[in-house]
Amino acid sequence: MTDLWFDPSHLLIGGTWRAASDTLPLENPSDGSTIGAIARGTAADVEAAVAAAEDSRVGWMRTPAAERGRILSRLGRLVADHTETLARIEAQDVGKPLTQARADAVALARYCEFYGGAADKVHGQTIPYLDGYTVYTLREPHGVTGHIVPWNYPMQIIGRSVGAALAMGNACVLKPAEDACLTALAFADLAMQAGLPPGVLNVVPGLGSEAGAALAAHPGIQHISFTGSVATGAAVQQAAGANVVPVTLELGGKSPQLVFEDADLDSALPFLVNAGIQNAGQTCSASSRILVHRSRLDEVTARMAKAYAALTVGPAMDDPRVGPLISARQKTRVEQMLAQDTGLDLVATGQILADAPSAGHYVAPRLYAGTDPAHALARDEIFGPVQLILPFDSEDEAVAIANGTDYGLVASVWTRDGARQMRLARALRSGQVFINNYGAGGGVELPFGGIGKSGHGREKGFEALYGFSTLKTVAALHG
Ligand code: NAD
Repeated sequence: MTDLWFDPSHLLIGGTWRAASDTLPLENPSDGSTIGAIARGTAADVEAAVAAAEDSRVGWMRTPAAERGRILSRLGRLVADHTETLARIEAQDVGKPLTQARADAVALARYCEFYGGAADKVHGQTIPYLDGYTVYTLREPHGVTGHIVPWNYPMQIIGRSVGAALAMGNACVLKPAEDACLTALAFADLAMQAGLPPGVLNVVPGLGSEAGAALAAHPGIQHISFTGSVATGAAVQQAAGANVVPVTLELGGKSPQLVFEDADLDSALPFLVNAGIQNAGQTCSASSRILVHRSRLDEVTARMAKAYAALTVGPAMDDPRVGPLISARQKTRVEQMLAQDTGLDLVATGQILADAPSAGHYVAPRLYAGTDPAHALARDEIFGPVQLILPFDSEDEAVAIANGTDYGLVASVWTRDGARQMRLARALRSGQVFINNYGAGGGVELPFGGIGKSGHGREKGFEALYGFSTLKTVAALHG
């Protein structure tokens, strides 16, 4: 493993790197090789990390907001200076093609910059009340916050959740995914270099069932931010519920793009395809359903098929369009889902490069066409490089299909009709709706989160600062 300036088998607790009592193998998904070891954090490590955060909490909360912001902004500049190194680490750890890994590092720097700038701009209110009273509200940190992060976008998810939590004056315990924890450790080291006081950010890598479960259930945690699967999110919420602790859940989706008869296909095409295959489809906001008005169905199918045929799949460090999946486990999950493709037409596939190592976790992208919106592949999250085209005949039918899954994270509408754009923005059951684009290039500033099984609570943008704080009302009777 190249590019590391820290020991990946250590945990960061109270500003000190500690050797773990046990380790887990660190795998490169591009060739299946073991390239090192990471810490297998225990419940005792979580206990120590929560205690360290608790010790630093009051000092950090009382640090002037402007100073917290300055430290975050400095951290953002350090991250930006390390963009290339962070991208190379992520490419080797996650199997993310270098260009996409660079974009994640740039986003992490931008989150630090954004939340650094926002730290001193969250204000309370004064509230007119009865004669003789002065009433005002204070925005205060929760205290110690837990952050359970998945493997698909470690840098972006750490930026949006830890960045916002730190800005509001919380002390954090971060549990990165066992499949990808290196950039979390790198980020924490850079945070110390930027001047973050010891104990304000602690990192405990390890298994979900061990370190993750211990963090979710810990009575010293006052807020949990979780991104990952529906089943694990529900378990985290239950564990937090026992301590009556608020939880933000971001659990993925089955996000549709709706292509109407008047769509500008030249503009739409790159978004239609990229939103499905970026990060090999392992994206919570991946667009796995392409709903097309029947009058454009043949054209969209042919043009997407041509784009799929040109997709190359290979090792992340070679920077192909599509890299490997994160693990053998994830590849098996995707292949098991694809085994249910009866009744669908396989329209086109991408190509795994001939020299891609056979032990890498490669899945060739697949473009399907179907007619049944209730088909398992049209309904369930696949989390691999797979998209399904479905036809519709009317606006009402398009909305019904789009809203017809348990999820509601992102949707987009491709139409030149302004009235339809406004109608659909309201009709679609989704945390974000994009009009004639998809994803707005990541949008650090844009509140993000789902409804239904996509989760609840909002991260990103200014809105996240409300989630990572609590409101106190002060009513003074002075006559
Ligand atoms: P997961 O939800 O189990 O893991 C996500 C994070 O939760 C990891 O850090 C993991 O260590 C932790 N975790 C696991 N069990 C835990 C527990 N009992 N208590 C506390 N934390 C726990 O996801 P996975 O098993 O890596 O992937 C399974 C599926 O989840 C994927 O196929 C995909 O569909 C979905 N997924 C979604 C996202 C997303 O961004 N929404 C990210 C990753 C995976």
